[in-house]
Amino acid sequence: MRFFFVSLFLAFGLIWAQAAVFDGQAYVPVADWARANGLHCAWLKRGDELVATNRTTRLVFDVDSHYVGINGVQVALSFPVANQHGVVMVAQFDLEAAIRPLLYPSRYVKPTTIQTICLDPGHGGRDAGNQVSWHFEKVYTLALAAELRDQLRRAGFDVIMTRSKDTYVELPDRPALANRRNADLFVSLHFNATPVGKNEVEGPQTYCITPMGASSTDAQGEGSNHGPTAANRHEDESLLLAYQIQKSLVGTLGADDRGVRRARFAVLRDARMPAILIEGGYMTNPYEGKKIYSAGYRRELAQAIVKGILAYQRLTAAAPPSVSSPSKGHPAKARPKSSAQYPLPGE
Ligand SMILES: [Zn+2]
Repeated sequence: MRFFFVSLFLAFGLIWAQAAVFDGQAYVPVADWARANGLHCAWLKRGDELVATNRTTRLVFDVDSHYVGINGVQVALSFPVANQHGVVMVAQFDLEAAIRPLLYPSRYVKPTTIQTICLDPGHGGRDAGNQVSWHFEKVYTLALAAELRDQLRRAGFDVIMTRSKDTYVELPDRPALANRRNADLFVSLHFNATPVGKNEVEGPQTYCITPMGASSTDAQGEGSNHGPTAANRHEDESLLLAYQIQKSLVGTLGADDRGVRRARFAVLRDARMPAILIEGGYMTNPYEGKKIYSAGYRRELAQAIVKGILAYQRLTAAAPPSVSSPSKGHPAKARPKSSAQYPLPGE
């Protein structure tokens, strides 16, 4: 581990900032970045927890954390928040790949009409998924998908499913169906389990594709040399969709927030449209498990997911006319520039 200081200009040379390179990653002081973006910084806990706010946005940075709190939702970072001599630093990479798309959605979302949604009930057939006593994950992912399908159809969407029965479907065949049918969104549904902390660990989490050059949230630093996947073309849109859904799940259900996370899951990486995977809660938690097994709670879960999809749909409709090529998607690193600021989605 080594730190050395360099200097650079942020924001048109108006602000002189100290930056650091840490294990090959450029870090910038949160306070300087925040000032350049019209946010006010204050300590929540001196030396440990910094908050950056404006009228519509509240970002919370915890030193050493791999997450940033964005308006009450935990969003995974690719590199931890650092503290260098009392200055809280964030990786430039995460500003670009995790924070800016959520702060300025209209710069990152292509204006599109969302008509067809592909639902992917996890597991099926000989793959039961998680098993807790006599409860199989594959049963509840299908039940949730059926409920969600009905609600989405009532909201005016076309819905296709990767399976509608207890059948085994290979992982690559799931996004392949969405690609073949030109689905506008791909939503994979799962329920979680943990071998330890069964009574404590609960709540939903929502995954989207890992940015190029980074390791996945649960990968302990592995896989950062992974090449681009098809899903990286919709990296920012998938992040926005995951954020809107996680925000709705946590807000609507009052559940623990286990965050927006990044993974190169087989069902995500080949998708040629915004694609996410929802872990709808923990079957191993006695309290949450019981809820997952009840139709009433799955109805609420589906309602929260619909609400998140509708919030994302509003972002795509609000986006300015595209000036890029008419093909679907854009290279993951093509980041449109605009000087206008927009409030955080959902505000
Ligand atoms: Zn699963």
